[in-house]
Amino acid sequence: MSAPDAEAVSGRIDDLRERLRRAGGSGVEIVAVTKGFGVDAIEHAVRAGVRCVGENFAQELVPKVAEARRHGWSFECHFIGRLQTNKVRSLVGAVDVWQSVDRAALVHEIAARCPGARVLIQVNATGEADKGGVPLGQLDDLVGLARDRELVVEGLMTVGPTDGDPTRTQVAFRATRSAVDRLGLTVCSMGMSDDLEIAIGEGSTMVRVGTAIFGARVRRERDRPDP
Ligand SMILES: *Cc1c(COP(=O)(O)O)cnc(C)c1O
Repeated sequence: MSAPDAEAVSGRIDDLRERLRRAGGSGVEIVAVTKGFGVDAIEHAVRAGVRCVGENFAQELVPKVAEARRHGWSFECHFIGRLQTNKVRSLVGAVDVWQSVDRAALVHEIAARCPGARVLIQVNATGEADKGGVPLGQLDDLVGLARDRELVVEGLMTVGPTDGDPTRTQVAFRATRSAVDRLGLTVCSMGMSDDLEIAIGEGSTMVRVGTAIFGARVRRERDRPDP
């Protein structure tokens, strides 16, 4: 699927920056989520000044990011989707920040294949059974393991409740930010197109935004793993 043209993307990124500013988050990092769109989405976002690009699916990411780098566009690639251990190997070299690390097996695999990698630990702060992320009660152990394996744990990532309920979203984001502080981390990746104001209000430092920049995607479960 091709992205809207460069002008449209840059206009929407301006609007997004204005939304962030009004919510009190002018310094918040934008991760432009390009899943479902072609390499032109990366090009337009980077030209509009976005530094980070997010992708969910290994098979889609690898060729797209390789092509973008061949063009010389400079950006950080963040992996934000459900990650299977057997996909890690194919992603090494393409991914700069692993945002969805949520279990010991993944820590071990990333540490083995990509020593010293920059990671965020994904937290399930909503208690939903079908959601990725380590439960808050097991978070400290997983952060400890990642540090023991010499991964660079920059922060935490979380996804709000699927039903979008504002109160539950706020509770989940508050718990995540408080864990970031307690663990002495810096990055708090939370907030998407529909809940970024709540996320900023609760102390997000990084929002992951697709729809508000590129428009609606062909539907695919937002965090279903690769086939
Ligand atoms: C798809 C996705 C996003 C972006 O969602 P939008 O609603 O399109 O802004 C952010 N984070 C994760 C983990 C995603 O899977």
